[in-house]
Amino acid sequence: LIEILPVPAYQGMQPNFFLVLFHDRTAERRVERMRSDFVANASHELRTPLASLAGFIETLQGPARDDPQARDRFLAIMREQATRMSRLIDDLLSLSRIEMRRHVAPQARADLVAVIAKVRSQLGPLAEDLGLKLDFTPPNERFVVVGDEDELIQVFANLIENACKYGADGGKVEIALERSSERGEPVIDASVRDFGAGIPAEHVPRLTERFYRVDVGNSRSKRGTGLGLSIVRNILLRHKSRLIVDSVVGRGSTFTVRFPALAQNDKESPKILETS
Ligand code: ADP
Repeated sequence: LIEILPVPAYQGMQPNFFLVLFHDRTAERRVERMRSDFVANASHELRTPLASLAGFIETLQGPARDDPQARDRFLAIMREQATRMSRLIDDLLSLSRIEMRRHVAPQARADLVAVIAKVRSQLGPLAEDLGLKLDFTPPNERFVVVGDEDELIQVFANLIENACKYGADGGKVEIALERSSERGEPVIDASVRDFGAGIPAEHVPRLTERFYRVDVGNSRSKRGTGLGLSIVRNILLRHKSRLIVDSVVGRGSTFTVRFPALAQNDKESPKILETS
């Protein structure tokens, strides 16, 4: 945006020049565009199951009215679509709540061993249905980080559920906790590894975008909302942690969450660890 302003008369002198101001509105425009893309995507995602529901209602009121078999089949599909809509709404609300407080650092402490144990029992039935083993040997020590337990449960539930959904052919999902260091700073790595199809490299940088799905034709992707990893990313931003994705097509994927480790003397000190 360019603004041209005539320079006002100064101390009786008549100006014969103009002031030209340049405003760079690129960032502002990008945020505006992202917001309107998001609304358009969210509406589209909600409209699809809604249109399908409306179509089935019409068929049930008309041609399929007296066909009990068709009715049962259609009702089952309608139920699936309703579940999908409510999952989408839950994820949208979750994302908006998390985005709102993403600049507020968490105050509490959470033990990752307990977090993973909870997620593992929560997802046990899904893994069993898919014939998968959720491999996690709880270590003898605690892996305490600065964090909100419920949000961290959400992070690992998303990662482990994805590993189950997209890595089902691999027979097992491995979950591990280990201490490491990055640029001399101690970190804790919590990794979720599957032995499924893997993700082509060109998709990896876009995985945490809202609604981004690699292969929408794939029946497993269809069941997802494309919001899971975006929720994970926003929670991790708040936790000053990051997601590292390592995937090889045909071999599987490892999603690692890297947390800053607490300082040695942290047990006494209530302050929050600041990371670089
Ligand atoms: P969704 O609800 O579709 O699972 P996510 O944001 O959790 O959404 O994931 C985005 C996409 O990333 C998925 O649709 C899938 O294509 C891909 N993806 C995520 N995790 C894995 C994985 N472990 N293996 C292969 N692809 C994955």
